[in-house]
Amino acid sequence: MGYNVAIDGPAGAGKSTIAKLVAKEKGYIYVDTGAMYRGLAIHFLKKGVDPEDKKAVAEACKDAEVTIGYENGIQQIYLNGENVTGMLRTEEVGNMASKTSAIPEVRNKLLDLQRSLAKEKDVIMDGRDIGTNILPDADVKIYLTASVETRAKRRFDELKEKGEDCSLEEISKDIRERDERDMTREIAPLRKAEDAVLVDSSNMTIPEVVDAICSYCR
Ligand code: C5P
Repeated sequence: MGYNVAIDGPAGAGKSTIAKLVAKEKGYIYVDTGAMYRGLAIHFLKKGVDPEDKKAVAEACKDAEVTIGYENGIQQIYLNGENVTGMLRTEEVGNMASKTSAIPEVRNKLLDLQRSLAKEKDVIMDGRDIGTNILPDADVKIYLTASVETRAKRRFDELKEKGEDCSLEEISKDIRERDERDMTREIAPLRKAEDAVLVDSSNMTIPEVVDAICSYCR
């Protein structure tokens, strides 16, 4: 059994940034489960599937295979053998992933992949239901959050830096909607596991958050 650290929290809390740095510091493998949902979302977008049509989404899952690999230590996502890593981080893909991740067939498709990675290796895995559902016996569980305002501003700055046109208001609205969907869905909703440590990064720097989390880890 590998040593397992679970990091859950809402969109934009900085889970991936922090988890990557903790992984480096501690020598764990970083597993980004949101990227797996995004990989499947690309499949649904390519097929023109309506995310509200649960039956169509479930059916489309049948001919999708998501696998994961590492290139120079960086996680790569393959959809039916094609490396789609460069296509994952758009708003369109994120929204499709957020909507379809509430569908049981979508979650079941990725469950074994996530559990088998954690079984074999020392991992830090980020997502929404890692501490509550995927790895209930994780050695360390962290619930990383920040206020909506902070998360929206971080996302806004990130997009601006990439030269993308965006509005802070739109981003805040999107984050609120995504929180609502992730927290109220019937299956594997986002919530803090009872035995998770709550870290609110609203007023913390990145090194402060990394240090705090490292202090709980072996
Ligand atoms: O974390 P990220 O924004 O990349 O995840 C994309 C979407 O995938 C989230 O909005 C969430 O709905 C879903 N997701 C999930 N369970 C996970 C990871 C992500 O439902 N473990």
